[in-house]
Amino acid sequence: MISMSSYRLPVLVNSLPHFNDLTQLKGVGPRVQERLSKLGLNNIQDVLFHLPYRYEDRTRIVPVGSLRHGYSALIEVTIDYAKIAFTRKGKSRRMLLLHVTDGTGSLLLRFFYFNKQQQQALVEGTKLRCFGDVRYGSSSLEIVHPEYTQINAETSEPVDDSLTPVYPVTDGISQILLRRLSGQCLDLLKEEALLPDYLDLPVLGQKKHYSLARALKYVHRPPADANVNQLFEVKHASQLRLIFEELLAQHLSLQTLRKKNRKYSAVSLKSNNYFLYQFIESLPFELTMAQQKVNQAILQDLESGVPMMRLVQGDVGSGKTVVAALACLKTVESGMQAAIMAPTEILAEQHYKNFTNWFESLGIEVAWLSGQIKGKKRNQVLSKILDGSAQVIVGTHALFQNDVQYKCLALAITDEQHRFGVQQRMALAKKANIKNKLNKLAHQLIMTATPIPRSLAMTAYADLDYSVIDELPPGRKPITTVVVQQERREEILERIYKACSKGKQAYWVCTLVEESESLQCQAAQNTAEILQNVLPDINVGLIHGRLKADEKASLMQDFKDGITQLLVATTVIEVGVDVPNASLMIIENAERLGLSQLHQLRGRVGRGEEASHCVLMFKSPLSEQAKERLAIMRKTNDGFEIAKKDLQLRGPGEVLGTRQTGLIQLKIADIVRDEYMLNEVKVMAQSLLGESPEKVKALIDRWVGVAQQYVNVG
Ligand code: ADP
Ligand code: MG
Repeated sequence: MISMSSYRLPVLVNSLPHFNDLTQLKGVGPRVQERLSKLGLNNIQDVLFHLPYRYEDRTRIVPVGSLRHGYSALIEVTIDYAKIAFTRKGKSRRMLLLHVTDGTGSLLLRFFYFNKQQQQALVEGTKLRCFGDVRYGSSSLEIVHPEYTQINAETSEPVDDSLTPVYPVTDGISQILLRRLSGQCLDLLKEEALLPDYLDLPVLGQKKHYSLARALKYVHRPPADANVNQLFEVKHASQLRLIFEELLAQHLSLQTLRKKNRKYSAVSLKSNNYFLYQFIESLPFELTMAQQKVNQAILQDLESGVPMMRLVQGDVGSGKTVVAALACLKTVESGMQAAIMAPTEILAEQHYKNFTNWFESLGIEVAWLSGQIKGKKRNQVLSKILDGSAQVIVGTHALFQNDVQYKCLALAITDEQHRFGVQQRMALAKKANIKNKLNKLAHQLIMTATPIPRSLAMTAYADLDYSVIDELPPGRKPITTVVVQQERREEILERIYKACSKGKQAYWVCTLVEESESLQCQAAQNTAEILQNVLPDINVGLIHGRLKADEKASLMQDFKDGITQLLVATTVIEVGVDVPNASLMIIENAERLGLSQLHQLRGRVGRGEEASHCVLMFKSPLSEQAKERLAIMRKTNDGFEIAKKDLQLRGPGEVLGTRQTGLIQLKIADIVRDEYMLNEVKVMAQSLLGESPEKVKALIDRWVGVAQQYVNVG
């Protein structure tokens, strides 16, 4: 347990002028300042928190005789002889080759870029100190373009007394510059109480406490005897100290945001749930226990006067749409409007159709709004939204545009939230404000199919309540997945033919990772033509992102109606599409897709009575990672397991789309790797929030900074 009693009073010196101005450092003029700003480095604190991702060891001179391929090393050598040579292949290029020795062995230094002065200086007998990556050359070990300094034959120069940091860089900013800057900033840290220490006590079971300044010093300039492996694995006590503080700051930031959101009020929805019961009666299936449980939580939220902020997570096919429909019914029955926003036209259109069918007999008017609706038609829809005759509004990003005004929006549903930014969903929720009353927020229901471990979700989405639909509707047959080399196309075609002849339907997903969308669509078009040629008896359809909304809609309808038997598609069908009769899916170039995306795609089948199959086509050779990914897909249908693996392979930033969801890039922490710290983080956050609001603010400023403003749409 952590006691907070030993906290020092914070010395808030964030306002010292030199703290904020990088041009006060040597080597920073206006141009460099601008480039640094591109790296997110705007003040001294930023530089101190721009941490190395690896280190080089220039603390000792390595005998040439003991050099190995793949290592970088500092060596001290004498030039045996120097010569100019030419590259053999293609356009011949001049190279400067230096044969060097140190008495224990010899080595080649190779330069492709060199000037006259260098050529004149680097001659036989010259002594050099070099640093670089050692690799196999054509006949011996060599270093290409080593960093070097000429040294005096008599006196010996001192070596570095700390490991050399290697920082993330950007164009126009060199390692050397960043090293100089971090050096200067660390010096400032010595002189001034620049960075007050808010965690003045050991954390994470460590016996000794690293002050923030000491931890930073260690991480930027580890001593020569530092355990490099430990540093590399980010397990050193100084690193843990920093990680802990960063996670703490992140957590505090999200908690603060949450509190801020709670200051808004929302309409308390009261009704006798007559619509709900009638709708549930009318469904051809029973709600799963999980759906009922989540529905209960939502109804409770809606009845309270506090804005609901609930994230509902459920694997693909778990039946999130029905749950969303129930929330809409509660809203409409209470005399208010509900909006449901989906990231693609296809998905939004599908929701629109479902909701229209479901709600028609209840006399509820469902409206449709997308960016493609223009002119008179748009005005008609807008006026229905404004006068309240549209009770449920389904659409895309169009729903939160400036000119869309709602009469009485009380519920904003965001489907597949990873495709939206926080601001976008907040922009919709804020449409609940009527006539400049700015403290109202619509209840928010946020739905996602990216299953992430609970503790991780609590960190990534600490501003949201969290429910899981942890059960699939009964009777689902697991999808059998096979991995097939693309050369075996014949067999696959055969398979499609057989399936379609039996009245089943299939998807063929083209996943060419082309730069331009039009190339992608072109490729899909070619594939569709080829498939139609080789399968003349089968009705082949084609859908891609370049089609107009109504074209897409009618193509989807044809597929739904069974007119199209094989649907060739780009990844536009990735999210949410639901055609239960489709039971076969072919994914081309599956090796190029991430696990979560494959899982989403595969989730388009396995929705009906039929046993479903998914064929992952790949082009060999496969990288180790690609092999691993495909093997996982074959092994399991469990979205949770897949997400966990995806998190390991790609990290949370990629998987959760953190940049968009408002969870900012972390500087040193990694919520998967460092998950075990979260409990202790929470405990400390709780007491800080209660006792030291000024520290909370300072910690958020320090670690989250500008990004916090980005999240702070509230
Ligand atoms: P997702 O969670 O991926 O958005 P959907 O809401 O699209 O899933 O639902 C997938 C399919 O399952 C739909 O065809 C839907 O009608 C059906 N479904 C939803 N709930 C149930 C249930 N309780 N029992 C049987 N089928 C259900
Ligand atoms: Mg869905």
